[in-house]
Amino acid sequence: MEKFNRKDVAHLQENLPRLVKKPVNLTITDNTHSMIHIRPSGSGYKVRLHHMFLEADSEVLNSLARFVKSRNRKAPSVLRNFVAVNSHKIKQSPRKARQTIVRSKGRFFDLNALFDQVNREYFANEIDCPITWGANRKVRNQNSIKLASYSDRTKTIRVHPALDKSYVPKYVIMGIVYHEMLHHHLGVEHRNGRKMAHTTRFRQLEARYLHYHKLQAWKERNLHRLLGR
Ligand SMILES: [Zn+2]
Repeated sequence: MEKFNRKDVAHLQENLPRLVKKPVNLTITDNTHSMIHIRPSGSGYKVRLHHMFLEADSEVLNSLARFVKSRNRKAPSVLRNFVAVNSHKIKQSPRKARQTIVRSKGRFFDLNALFDQVNREYFANEIDCPITWGANRKVRNQNSIKLASYSDRTKTIRVHPALDKSYVPKYVIMGIVYHEMLHHHLGVEHRNGRKMAHTTRFRQLEARYLHYHKLQAWKERNLHRLLGR
């Protein structure tokens, strides 16, 4: 997976709805065929964009916003030129087509907004890594569920979409995001050839989360619900 700047995602997330003047649920992809995919959703749109648009200037963004609203089939020349100029960023291997890179806005929670809050409150705004909802895999027939993960390789935080539910309190997701941000912050230690992620230091810092005990209790009480039982 390609590395990219989380701030660019936040920039797009803020500006596209502003220009379109309607809610936009944005997904950044690594698609090989479809660079722009738009469909109406609720009072706004669901938009899937190739990650090349993370570096779009305001002319391209304005054109994109008009295209979203127009519902024309053919993209305007500004957009077609932009895609042509950036075509080297399109992955050549068709095997991994339609891969989602980042989708931070869920139905109930915007991971970027939660990330920003945790970053402000616990990390003096020093953390910068992408955060995304994970793929929507069924969790049936399992006794446990990995609620979130941090990839040391791609430096990306993934949160399980089972948490994007109305009954999940904000402090729960914030605490889970805080845990994964700590992984990014502390890095992974290697001891005797073994990866050590949850060190004593990690556990000490983890317990500094304001609702730490409430969070653990909530997870125990609600695991069956998250597993869909
Ligand atoms: Zn962990």
